Amino acid sequence: MKPLNIFILGPSGSGKSTQAKFLAKEFDLTYLKSGEMLRAIARQNNTLGKKIKKIMSEQGKFVPCKIVIKIAKEELKKIPKNKGIVFDGFGRKLPEIKADERMLAKMRRKIDFVFLIEIGEKETLKRLSKRRVCKKCGTNFILGKTISEKIKKCPKCGGEIYQRKDDSPTKIKSRLKEYQKETLPVARYLKKKGILIKINGEQPIKKVYKDILENFKTGREILKKK
Ligand SMILES: [Zn+2]
Repeated sequence: MKPLNIFILGPSGSGKSTQAKFLAKEFDLTYLKSGEMLRAIARQNNTLGKKIKKIMSEQGKFVPCKIVIKIAKEELKKIPKNKGIVFDGFGRKLPEIKADERMLAKMRRKIDFVFLIEIGEKETLKRLSKRRVCKKCGTNFILGKTISEKIKKCPKCGGEIYQRKDDSPTKIKSRLKEYQKETLPVARYLKKKGILIKINGEQPIKKVYKDILENFKTGREILKKK
């Protein structure tokens, strides 16, 4: 069977990275997160690294699609051809997902499924107000859940833990609007292709994963028969 390529989409706070990692671990797939991939390049002291660092440090600015694709291509070359991949933070806009498809096609891969984890505005606000981030390694924490209020340093790397400026209610709301505006066409496009699987993200983490797993297994069986 051909290696699977899975995309996970969802607004911030939907828990998509957690779910993507569960899936990658259980099925021995490579987990590729666009933000982490870009941060790793930004740490390199070369021209590209410096350029990305500059863009990423400017609040709210996204690294242009062309650059993301260029870096992703290099990253994909390192992954064995027979290994499946879970993509996190890719294809958030229609031109992006189309560019990702073209890139994968060149490597004889294709997007097999896309999980869209859905959560409402109220739940997003509730979750993101509790979000804390490590300045150094970028790990997300949830106050009172994955980290206690007393801990000020990241348990993974010792970096400073802080609340992102764009996690204020107004900023969250405008980001959600932007997300909906961009994601709707992506979802429509993927639905037409028959590869979109919507998941209710307003459930406990384990239940969300259970839903993903059931759909994943069914989808895999269908692909095997093809
Ligand atoms: Zn850290």
